Amino acid sequence: MRPQPLPEYFTELAPFEDLFCEGRAILCYHKIATPPRKARIKGLYLEPTLFSRQMEEFSSSGFISDPPSLPAGTEKKTLTITFDDGFLTNLTEAVPRMQKSNIRAINYLVADRIGQTSDWEAREGGEADPLMNESQIKEWLSAGHSIGAHTCTHPRLSLLSRDHAKEEIVASKKKLEDRFGLPVEHFAYPYGDYNQTTVELVREAGFKTACTMHRGINAPDTSRFELKRFTARYESRNLRNFFRKLF
Ligand SMILES: [Zn+2]
Repeated sequence: MRPQPLPEYFTELAPFEDLFCEGRAILCYHKIATPPRKARIKGLYLEPTLFSRQMEEFSSSGFISDPPSLPAGTEKKTLTITFDDGFLTNLTEAVPRMQKSNIRAINYLVADRIGQTSDWEAREGGEADPLMNESQIKEWLSAGHSIGAHTCTHPRLSLLSRDHAKEEIVASKKKLEDRFGLPVEHFAYPYGDYNQTTVELVREAGFKTACTMHRGINAPDTSRFELKRFTARYESRNLRNFFRKLF
């Protein structure tokens, strides 16, 4: 029995640890940086120091990280670390910190935006931040991490025609496989937006799993194409200072 309701976002392991042992936990990260004061969507940021703390907590509590999948029943303390969009800070800030704790992650890349910026965010009034280029993604891979697909241009898939959505999904897989010479078997829905058609298209394209933004733990009977995740996001300084003063 968990005495308290779960926090909405993942900040530290303690309130989640029991739950993470019940199935496959998948965490979702975006930018490993301090949120700029004016950032509209602060939830996409997580401070490097907090990221370090989280990675240390996982390894000291005996968690290991694996690619996305459903729990087989025998594995214990296995979780999946995912990054969406392929931000440059994933390489510069996250890779060295993961290395220290022996953590491996998967990064869902936007196939037509490699080496560019997250222009889809700017379209919605957010910050367009730099994304890894091809050689930086190769560094990410050679550090032992993997890649998945996140469409070609980061659209809301449920709003597209079937043909257009199919093109975004199928072409992103092929482009990444051709460019990096490895199988791309995992997918994440941009904005966590999808419908039944999207799920069918992702399955038909040959992906093995797809991540949503629904919160929760994955059980053996969870759909492989509707995996749940917890978002890890920045720690509000005000809140942290408030607690520091309190205790
Ligand atoms: Zn995304």
